[in-house]
Amino acid sequence: MFCKIAAGQIPADVVRETGTTVAFRDINPQAPTHVLVIPKVHHPDAASLAAAEPGIAADLLREAGQVAGEEKLESYRIVFNTGSGAGQTVFHAHAHVMGGRGMQWPPG
Ligand code: 5GP
Repeated sequence: MFCKIAAGQIPADVVRETGTTVAFRDINPQAPTHVLVIPKVHHPDAASLAAAEPGIAADLLREAGQVAGEEKLESYRIVFNTGSGAGQTVFHAHAHVMGGRGMQWPPG
């Protein structure tokens, strides 16, 4: 499904796009700012992306930081849920960029 968002075939509230990544607002936000950053190429999770295409994994992290800056987040969290037991529901690598409220540690 995120492949279709990356290809522009499914609408999304896109906040940034580069040659290798797309950043868009989560449809079910868990924080005042909740943006997903995805690679345009398909890999099932972040570690798989980093192992196969480290340059694009770096692009993803750079874009997460750009999103946080544009959203004027002083503090924020970047989350990569990996595996269904950790809450991953979409098996196309994505970073959650979340901020705008206090963050608990450790997370649930
Ligand atoms: P995960 O649970 O895999 O870590 O994160 C998947 C995220 O994608 C969830 O936060 C969910 O709300 C979001 N999501 C699922 N489907 C869509 C969609 O079609 N559009 C957008 N913008 N977000 C989606």
